[in-house]
Amino acid sequence: MNILVVEDERNLADAICHILNDAGYHAEACYDGRSGLTSAESGLYDAVVLDVMLPKMDGFEVVHELRRKGNSVPVLLLTARTSLTDKVEGLDAGADDYMTKPFEAPELLARLRALTRRQGDVVIDELSFADLTLDLTTHDLKCGEKEVHLSGKEFEVLRMLMSSTSRIVSKQDLLTRVWGTDGDASENSVEAYVSFLRKKINHLGSRVQITTLRMLGYRLEVFENLGA
Ligand code: CA
Repeated sequence: MNILVVEDERNLADAICHILNDAGYHAEACYDGRSGLTSAESGLYDAVVLDVMLPKMDGFEVVHELRRKGNSVPVLLLTARTSLTDKVEGLDAGADDYMTKPFEAPELLARLRALTRRQGDVVIDELSFADLTLDLTTHDLKCGEKEVHLSGKEFEVLRMLMSSTSRIVSKQDLLTRVWGTDGDASENSVEAYVSFLRKKINHLGSRVQITTLRMLGYRLEVFENLGA
């Protein structure tokens, strides 16, 4: 089981990784909020141990951003702060559990065990980006009063793009994640579905565009004055 540790005090981050690795987990550390968010979004981790006071982006923002993008990875917030409002803010932002520093190794391990058992309890039913909302249950894409229904593959492609708005998604990533082992699919299939999605997004009158970055992949961007 892979655990991401986001903690800017390197000694503490390394100590936590050491405890986790000794307990049979595979732990890796990030030392600021922004790189922690990018790593947590990668889908490689089964749980995140997240400090609150972090450079670049605090732990509350990281977990809020993860949940906004539909990522339900279990998060254990770690902080020196003990006030009730901090605890409430952390849980409201979408954290699964909360632990105050200093702590003992057995407590960390017990909480992580409970957290990874509960995986999947956070129910995310829609993703939003700018004026677009994607319903994860019905596969309807909405913009204001308008909505269109997405086919299975269109939905999977857009869900990946909307879940990864802080990075570029490559055609190969889309091919692997959406088409899997379907041997007939190629990068042309990805291009075809992106083209269908562009037509639907355009039809909705959204300010969002799927931008192609040559040789790199795709990214969602917002054009403020489109159609104005
Ligand atoms: Ca810190």
